[in-house]
Amino acid sequence: MGELWHGLSAQQCLARLGSDADCGLEAGEAQARLARDGANRISGRPPESGFSRFLRQLREPLIYILIGSGALALFLREWVDAAVIFGVVLVNALVGAIQEARASSAIAALARRVPRNCRVLRDRELRICDAAELVVGDVLALEAGDQVPADLRLLAVRELLIDEAMLTGESLPAEKAVESLDEGCALADRRNLAFAGTLVLRGTAKALVVATANSTELGHIAALMDATASLETPLTRRLARFSKQMLVLILALAALTLIVGLARGLPLAQMLMATVALAVGAIPEGLPAALTITLAIGVGRMARRSAVIRRLPAVEALGSVTVICTDKTGTLTENRMAVTHLVAGGREYRPGDAASEGSALRELLLAGVLCNDATPRCEDGVWSFEGDPTEVALLPAALASGLDVAALRAAHPRFDALPFDASRQWMATLNRDAAGATLWIKGAPERVLAHCAARLAADGQSAPLDMAAELGRATVLAAQGFRVLAFAYRAGEALPDGEAGPWTLLGFQALEDPPRAQVPAALARCREAGVRVVMITGDHAATACGIAERIALSRHAPLRALTGAELAVLDGKALGEAVRSVDVFARVLPEQKLRLVEALQAQGEVVAMTGDGVNDAPALKQADIGIAMGRGGTDVAKQASAMVLADDNFATIVAAIEEGRAVYDNLQKFMVWTLPTNFAEGLIIFIAVLVGVSLPITPLQILWINMSTVLLLGLALAFEPGAGALMQRPPRAPREALLPPVLMARICLAGALLVAAAFSLFHYELATGSSLAVARTAAANLFVFGEMSFLLNCRSLTGSWWRAGWWSNRWLWPGMFAMTALQIAFTYLPAMQAAFGTQALTPSSWLSVAVGALAISLVVGAEKAIRRFAALRADSGRVMDRW
Ligand code: ATP
Repeated sequence: MGELWHGLSAQQCLARLGSDADCGLEAGEAQARLARDGANRISGRPPESGFSRFLRQLREPLIYILIGSGALALFLREWVDAAVIFGVVLVNALVGAIQEARASSAIAALARRVPRNCRVLRDRELRICDAAELVVGDVLALEAGDQVPADLRLLAVRELLIDEAMLTGESLPAEKAVESLDEGCALADRRNLAFAGTLVLRGTAKALVVATANSTELGHIAALMDATASLETPLTRRLARFSKQMLVLILALAALTLIVGLARGLPLAQMLMATVALAVGAIPEGLPAALTITLAIGVGRMARRSAVIRRLPAVEALGSVTVICTDKTGTLTENRMAVTHLVAGGREYRPGDAASEGSALRELLLAGVLCNDATPRCEDGVWSFEGDPTEVALLPAALASGLDVAALRAAHPRFDALPFDASRQWMATLNRDAAGATLWIKGAPERVLAHCAARLAADGQSAPLDMAAELGRATVLAAQGFRVLAFAYRAGEALPDGEAGPWTLLGFQALEDPPRAQVPAALARCREAGVRVVMITGDHAATACGIAERIALSRHAPLRALTGAELAVLDGKALGEAVRSVDVFARVLPEQKLRLVEALQAQGEVVAMTGDGVNDAPALKQADIGIAMGRGGTDVAKQASAMVLADDNFATIVAAIEEGRAVYDNLQKFMVWTLPTNFAEGLIIFIAVLVGVSLPITPLQILWINMSTVLLLGLALAFEPGAGALMQRPPRAPREALLPPVLMARICLAGALLVAAAFSLFHYELATGSSLAVARTAAANLFVFGEMSFLLNCRSLTGSWWRAGWWSNRWLWPGMFAMTALQIAFTYLPAMQAAFGTQALTPSSWLSVAVGALAISLVVGAEKAIRRFAALRADSGRVMDRW
């Protein structure tokens, strides 16, 4: 039946669904239909099954080596070894699958946190409602920026243009109409329908819901789409490449060991087991899981600070941001507007001044009531308003001066409207009353004034217009940081395409929008963190500068603003100059934002860019991180963004940058911590074979060390809170190596220390008469406790560990405690002794283990201290560079 809607007339559709274009459904009826049909939510393809996720974990190059090693152990009839190796493969894949499932469902849940509202006509009233509550028969209003919430039959349209690429693959947006069509026409040609999931690029419409949830066209194909959020990021790709390189290295080392051993005449079976030990030791099994967990924790932390990540790569890109391009209204300011000054008939008024019938002030306020899409509501004498804050502000101003907003709207019913559009910078309506039809316009002063031919004097009589004087009045107000709107009217029966006049100027209303309280502090943090902030606003240059000064945005005094008109005439080179030196761009058209982003990127900057409107989408996509407003933003902007600000607040962007830096740091910390062990385990086997002594640790012991320490110790690093110093250093270069030379050197140093300590202890034990089993137990314990003390070093990549706070990581001490308990069991529990070939240690052996372990963290601590000292000497007084 859904197939037929385009073949019916609008009236027929309404009749079939028992609805009415002017009243909408009754609330009770909508409730009943919701109960009958269910929520308007597309269930999509069921998420990937746990088992297939599990299997996918096994398809990792490093895991192949483990599986190969297990098979080799089986072949050699080393049953316990084989069982433990396969056990490790299973546990590893299990942990990976569980973590991945948690991470992707958390990200999917976050995406759902971005609300989807729509405007529905119920009981004759237009209300904002959750798109999930839509039912068949609802009548709703669409405007530019909306995502179509269900399949709709259009009832009335104005300049409606819809992007249907996600459904039809057609890249050109579709013009829509209301006439009924031939029943046989194809989906893409059904111009009188709008489909769920598509995006309104321009215009407005009134439409009837004909299908919801899985009955929509999108619902039909959702089953084919991948519902899971992708967990791939540039970092995971780099890590995958790194794994492949490790694979080659490990295989080469294993082959070399085998050849050397055989050349020395060692038995093949023993050599093969040594090769297995080397391979399993050198593989950092925990790395992929640690990466996913670190990213997921970062996403969660950002969400708690109101930054909702829509695309995972944004988490790491945030750490390299060098420029934030932010809009003003609602992001730097509260977006709680109030009219503070009115200018009518050449005189200045305050809200609350009496507006006598026929005066210019009254006409100005009336224009604010009629040429306005906000909805007033009065319950028990208390007014509330719904709509764009700029428009909402005009209603209390009219009420304060004694205008009866509801009665005036009823007496001047609206017949047509051209909605506000950021590119146009004005809106107009056509209203009728007993005397005839009037057109009202409000918008940016210079746009409206350009088409005015006369003005209204204070007494309401028409008077000649002094253009320069009026513009001057508007600029004086704007320079105080106010947003200024001009109002005009004229008689007329139809809305013009452009501003086409001549209009009669009624006056101005100046709106105050206070800066957000947290913004100055957030800007100071950006300055410290080497992140530049650029304001790009649609508002007047004087207003923009007024606000910029109040929040101390710019490094430059005097503040210089460049307008969109000035931008338009700059060539590429001049534009490059401009984006380097100017911090405020005003009266910028959304289309120009793309050029600004590109110009900044051409200068090598990594750009985070905020946006809220439809026309911001290209710039949001082009930016390294597109950021949409959760409350004030359109669906189109949200779709185009990598991150959504739940609270629209600039300070949240800075918080997200801090978390982004913390994520990257924590991942580096994990790698610096885990790789020395792998390096040392591989090396110790290689050396043992090379010099022809027995292996200081067995393959089984190596696996034990790797698995238990990663789970109990290493993963605690993912929970390290971002250190305060994170925002006192410059952004990370996007091309910086995963492990810069300093960290590589530290990995080698720690690895060499582990090898030296374990080897010395092993041979010392043998020399003092201990059995091979005891010597190996001591060496294995040295590895574990060495990693434990090195873990403390790794809590900070540059500073001393206690500066990160003794208790700031809640997993640290429990993990260390549990690890110690496990090592005691490993050493003394008969079952564990049987499985791992361990034996009880004497107190003096324990003492040697403790001394060796401590030495490692002391040496690395000294290395960090020396670097800090050198860095301080090299650039004293400046912000300390990271490396
Ligand atoms: P940003 O959010 O990027 O800082 P903005 O939201 O302040 O910019 P726009 O919304 O693009 O800027 O508005 C640009 C200009 O259009 C305003 O300075 C104002 O003069 C005018 N304007 C804004 N809202 C309306 C409206 N609802 N009706 C008519 N004119 C408006």
